[in-house]
Amino acid sequence: MASDKKSLCKWKSDDIDKDRKRFKKLVRNAQYFCRKCGRAAGAKDNLCKPDDL
Ligand SMILES: [Zn+2]
Repeated sequence: MASDKKSLCKWKSDDIDKDRKRFKKLVRNAQYFCRKCGRAAGAKDNLCKPDDL
């Protein structure tokens, strides 16, 4: 199961389906995005190539 420390970039659609609440928490109030994957997150730590949104 995905943990909070796991990079959001590594979440697969299956992980999101299984743990949507945690996923929502991670992307809520997103202030950063990943230059590599195009995902957004509230914490830099959750992205592999974070940049300010
Ligand atoms: Zn990434």
